[in-house]
Amino acid sequence: MAHELDIIPGTEWGFFTLPRPMCIAGPCSAESEEQVMETAAGLNAFGIHVFRAGIWKPRTHPGSFEGVGTPGLKWMRKVKETYGMKTCTEVASEKHVLECLKYGVDMVWVGARTSANPFLMQEIADALEGTDIPVLVKNPVNPDIDLWIGALERLNRAGLKKLGVIHRGFSTSAPIAYRNDPGWRMAIELRTRYPQLAFFADPSHMAGDRKYLLELSQRAMDLGLDGLMVESHCNPACALSDAKQQLTPPDLKTMLESLVIRDNTSDNQAYREGIDALRAQIDVIDENLLFTLASRMKVSAKIGQYKKDHNVAILQSGRWEQVLSQMKIKASAYGLSDAFIDAVFNAIHEESVRVQNEVLEG
Ligand code: PEP
Ligand code: MN
Repeated sequence: MAHELDIIPGTEWGFFTLPRPMCIAGPCSAESEEQVMETAAGLNAFGIHVFRAGIWKPRTHPGSFEGVGTPGLKWMRKVKETYGMKTCTEVASEKHVLECLKYGVDMVWVGARTSANPFLMQEIADALEGTDIPVLVKNPVNPDIDLWIGALERLNRAGLKKLGVIHRGFSTSAPIAYRNDPGWRMAIELRTRYPQLAFFADPSHMAGDRKYLLELSQRAMDLGLDGLMVESHCNPACALSDAKQQLTPPDLKTMLESLVIRDNTSDNQAYREGIDALRAQIDVIDENLLFTLASRMKVSAKIGQYKKDHNVAILQSGRWEQVLSQMKIKASAYGLSDAFIDAVFNAIHEESVRVQNEVLEG
């Protein structure tokens, strides 16, 4: 089922000036007035207009630094007054929202542990009702696109239209180099379903280490996302949280300048003609694929009938594994990857079994 969202695009919030990427930067946590002001000064000096800092920090272990709480909101207000920057922080409860509204925080985001919790999402949406501040929703820690969309719907139903998302990757137990699994496929899926949503990537929490920030930021830009939320600290080595992944403001400037920003589209006539011709080819191939798939399913239905007539079970264990491994050998000759073949043919097989079952039960 399609869930409609009534959205005001990020370009109309008055927060970001083009060109891409729209950038939000600031420390993982507000730690002291000096650290907040010094970091903001460094960022403001090269044109960052939106300042982030965590005031309440969701930490894995109790006893870790859990944020400075309300006093930090006064430092955020000072950033706003001194540099004219917009400010934002993470909220995870009604209390957080009310404190932010009281101290004039311009935008809030919902963290990955909170967007996974419908009770908290509803509490936050209710607390924000009647305001029109922008709200960014990070993906839930688990890769569940419906949970992510549900969180946006709750906010939208509370009348909030300046909505955006932050893709920060997913928790994983797999041994990967990054702190979180980038899982870009889900970002592409959400982007495709809701192209009007302001779309940020958070390379800092995805990476967990500053050495991966450039490659992940570049990937986000290549996928056409609108912006980046990056952690920046005036003295990363002394940061009270996420020290390894933060950049000094000058290093962030260098990183942003290293990004290659490609246009989302082009008005160039030759480009348009070239891309139209290629897309026409793709359209024909896709129609052929549809026809081929439909033909395959018709044969599946016949097989189903044949098995039924001969009182044979539908799943012949072992056969599919054999077919699939043969398929991968052939596919590799065409330069098609095993992962791709797994995804496509397992989907085809699943549908085939469904069709055969239909025949059996019909
Ligand atoms: C953060 O932005 O500081 C944070 C806690 O992020 P996440 O919710 O993505 O873990
Ligand atoms: Mn952090």
